[in-house]
Amino acid sequence: MITLKIVLIGPPGAGKGTYASRLTSTLGVPHISTGDIVREEIKAQTKLGKMIKTYSDKGELIPDEIMIKLLAEKLRKPDCKNGFILDGFPRTIKQAEVFDRISKINLVINLNVPDYIIIQRLSNRLVCRRCGTIYNKLTLKPKRDNVCDKCDGELYQRKDDNPKVIQDRLNIYRKKTEPLIEYYKKKNLLKNVRCDDLKIPPEEIVEKIKTVINQFQKPSKP
Ligand code: AMP
Repeated sequence: MITLKIVLIGPPGAGKGTYASRLTSTLGVPHISTGDIVREEIKAQTKLGKMIKTYSDKGELIPDEIMIKLLAEKLRKPDCKNGFILDGFPRTIKQAEVFDRISKINLVINLNVPDYIIIQRLSNRLVCRRCGTIYNKLTLKPKRDNVCDKCDGELYQRKDDNPKVIQDRLNIYRKKTEPLIEYYKKKNLLKNVRCDDLKIPPEEIVEKIKTVINQFQKPSKP
């Protein structure tokens, strides 16, 4: 069995979490979101959690060494042995370089999303407090107001999904994370998927991503 180690790259609000959570069952590999790892640590109110909250609340990246350590712990779990879909990592060249020494990425999917869609998405995003399912007040509404369709959990708006922090996160993405596109292009790992229409349903983008993955999995002709 070939391992499937995929990175989804794209600005905050590109839909990485939404698409990854839908891809995980068909691909049979777990969705690993470093944002979720960070939020779990904060929720557990550990000493580390309290420290990283100061970065996360402002939309700033937490230090590379801490992020890599937290992620490496997660990847050692048995469910990651056949691969994973990484969402939110790497976010800096340094993270990518260190990660190259830990694991071998097979494919990087870059979600091309214009800023106006990002701002619309993030300012209307709702997340389930219990199971993490993502909704959108405009495009992906829950059946009942503020209640998760899947687990009846309460929906909330993330603290970093407010206009000022959204703009800061986008600036950080352009400055620190976007250079990774060139980094992975040079390694011949990069595939682009365009998502430039707010009305396109997530299923359609998921299908586009699956097509890219299927192409990658096809054995190359001799
Ligand atoms: P996300 O849910 O991916 O938007 O991540 C939420 C927050 O967690 C970010 O704003 C950062 O503070 C932190 N975070 C998530 N992934 C990383 C990463 N790879 N490197 C540094 N900080 C991260």
